[in-house]
Amino acid sequence: MSILSSIMSTARRRSPWVFHANAGSCNGCDIEFMACLTPRYDMEQLGIRHEASPRHADIIVVSGPVTRTTCEALETVYGQVPDPKVVVALGSCPASCNVFAGSPTIVGPLDRILPVDVYVPGCPPRPDAIIAGLVEAAAILAGDKPRPAPGAAQLGTGGAADRTPR
Ligand code: SF4
Repeated sequence: MSILSSIMSTARRRSPWVFHANAGSCNGCDIEFMACLTPRYDMEQLGIRHEASPRHADIIVVSGPVTRTTCEALETVYGQVPDPKVVVALGSCPASCNVFAGSPTIVGPLDRILPVDVYVPGCPPRPDAIIAGLVEAAAILAGDKPRPAPGAAQLGTGGAADRTPR
């Protein structure tokens, strides 16, 4: 690995920037995600920064079951995030559509639309489980952990504090 590649890898592992996309969630997962920014959980102490623009992000966190009205915007956002990038499915909705499964307004789950690298289960997941998922995403981004094959990402444990998905 060249010196430049080594520096880039370290930066991605220690300071990933995260863009959050709401693809039709009930806002439960979004509130828990925002709690990660509060002093109690403080994900920035790990170097994980919440970024408002997808063009500056490394990681896309998606909440919600992916509705028809959000699908196109989600694909646009994915295209705007520079490579390499990692997709994190936040909560049970992007993983399985959860209670919204079967609705004609839903086009998810998320892996029908985007390649998912990390799942954070729960309805909603707790902030510490979300941060654990982001740390895993940073490891994939830095090349320390292999990227799962398409469709092969597994549901994580979400840590001891995870809540059982519906
Ligand atoms: S997983 Fe639960 S809390 Fe999160 S968006 Fe879906 S219904 Fe809401």
